[in-house]
Amino acid sequence: MTTIEERQPEQHVFEADVSRLLHMMVHSVYSDKDVFLRELISNAADACEKLRYESVSAPELSDGTQPVILVTLNEEAPTLVIEDNGIGMSRDEMIDALGTIARSGTKAFIERLEAAKTGEKTELIGQFGVGFYSSFMVADQVDVISRPAGQDEAWKWSSDGKGSYQVAAIDLAEAPARGTRVVLHLMEDAKKYANKWTVEKIIRDQSGHVPVPIHLVEKEGAEPSQVSDGAALWIKQKSEISKEDYNDFYRSVSGHYDEPLANVHFHAEGRHEYTTLAFIPGSQPFDLFDPDRQGRMKLYVKRVFITDEAELLPRYLRFVRGIVDTSDLPLNISREMIQDSPVLAAIKKGITSRILSALEKMAESEVETFSKVWDLFGAILKEGIYDDFERRSLLLKLARFRSTVSGEATRSLTDYLTAMQEGQSAIYYISGSSLDQLKSSPQLEGFRAKGIEVLLLTDGVDSFWPTNVADFEGRPFKSVTQGLADLNAVSSKGGADEAGWQASPEVGAFIDFARSALGEEVADVRISDRLTESAVCLVASEDGPDRQLEKLLQSAGRLQTAPKPILEINAQSERVKSIASIDDPAFREDAAWLLLDEARILDGDKPVNPRAFADRQARLFEFAVGQGN
Ligand code: ADP
Repeated sequence: MTTIEERQPEQHVFEADVSRLLHMMVHSVYSDKDVFLRELISNAADACEKLRYESVSAPELSDGTQPVILVTLNEEAPTLVIEDNGIGMSRDEMIDALGTIARSGTKAFIERLEAAKTGEKTELIGQFGVGFYSSFMVADQVDVISRPAGQDEAWKWSSDGKGSYQVAAIDLAEAPARGTRVVLHLMEDAKKYANKWTVEKIIRDQSGHVPVPIHLVEKEGAEPSQVSDGAALWIKQKSEISKEDYNDFYRSVSGHYDEPLANVHFHAEGRHEYTTLAFIPGSQPFDLFDPDRQGRMKLYVKRVFITDEAELLPRYLRFVRGIVDTSDLPLNISREMIQDSPVLAAIKKGITSRILSALEKMAESEVETFSKVWDLFGAILKEGIYDDFERRSLLLKLARFRSTVSGEATRSLTDYLTAMQEGQSAIYYISGSSLDQLKSSPQLEGFRAKGIEVLLLTDGVDSFWPTNVADFEGRPFKSVTQGLADLNAVSSKGGADEAGWQASPEVGAFIDFARSALGEEVADVRISDRLTESAVCLVASEDGPDRQLEKLLQSAGRLQTAPKPILEINAQSERVKSIASIDDPAFREDAAWLLLDEARILDGDKPVNPRAFADRQARLFEFAVGQGN
């Protein structure tokens, strides 16, 4: 065996993503550099809580000392040292944790960050939570010295943040008795972080509610003074907690830098005893739409942190941050037990209901705040309409939509029902990816003319839930791009009823001709009652998916055969009437195909055969020129 003295420090290079993140840190994307301290204190507190958890099953890991975070200043050097007596890191853990970025979605996030403008960068990185690497905003050299709990070894990690780092074994005498010491060699323009008043204020403001006491040592050799007592905020009475206390706690528990829009704080007794303090963030977390993303609620048992990986909320509430503390579980609960615990299932149900009813109240009494919540998280909440059968009608009530009559505002389904026209039996919607394109869809024309409101659905999940939900208060959902519009049953808003007209025999004959000319390309060609201005549009047949879902399934390769839409023709359009009056088979054939391509283009697609499209158009021009001469 080699002795420590004989071992050379090992040189490692940072993973590419770390280097990119570090580059951004050093060329500071963050105007508020103070946040580095909160990140380091939060890591120190996590390490203490992990030890508290591990030592329930392995008491030998803890020597009985209370968890504490010690912050030591040296204005002359200048240095700032953050030390904890938590779980510590082994050599491998150091290389893993301080040389890579484990969080999923990080790569995509860094790309967005690099592309963002200066102002947006600050906002983006606030959603990410900058982590340990933020040390390099204030330090040109960082040493991390760690001794893992229960081990007789200690390691030192050092870096100047410029692409590589060193790891070396060190003497136990140079390391804390247990846990991690982070030494920041402060840059000239960051000297203030060695000043007692500055640091004390930052800790009180940012980290006053971490559940581990924080002590400050003004200079080496001085007596430590307590800056924060580590008492859990959530066990206090609501009346004793100020808005600032809640906000600070939210920031420390969530890693966000914004203000929460609302909190839900309650203590449940009875069959199960637990306390929840949950927050609705004021901005979207960076990885909100990452398919692997789970919720981040923290589970405590009798104030001991257990895990932040327990599923304490349904997926559609994954944006909620906070804690649940219960006395109904054993402290030594294993991860497997957590997964199948009936107690946790009951707690999950309880907090889900409380959060949703808080949202329901907010929707009634704090309309503006609720509309912010909906803007940020509506697309996620809507997943619940699809996933959570039990709470479906509640979620439908909460949902807000843009519609053909809403303008910039949003409307609820209750608003929709109140504004329904006489004879209207369904809730109409159209889905697609762009609001502008939806607004100009030909399929809406007849509905607009009759004053019927149509919901404009633009979130990804909107392609799925309406087909899954039978109704809202007895009214079915119906896509305007599917089946027959049945608009004749609805009386016209202005009173004048256009129903009763008959297509001319010529138009009827042209439609028959088009049906046979287009053959297998379409499921049918028929007269439309949903068009008033455009000549044509495409719709899906009555059963199965609507146009949008059909297209999605096709592009995802989930349909065995290409979907065959129905071509609807506006029999009252002057253009259609003129076309139908020309009795030239070659012309009619071109016209039928061109009308189909026109409908495809209006649908946001391309002609299937661009060459044939161009040839037909050229012939049509020649024909028109010939007629003109
Ligand atoms: P995050 O805290 O979001 O995971 P960080 O970059 O802040 O990201 O830290 C990366 C990892 O480094 C942590 O997850 C943890 O495993 C390890 N780590 C950082 N600081 C400490 C510490 N004081 N004690 C033990 N482990 C730590």
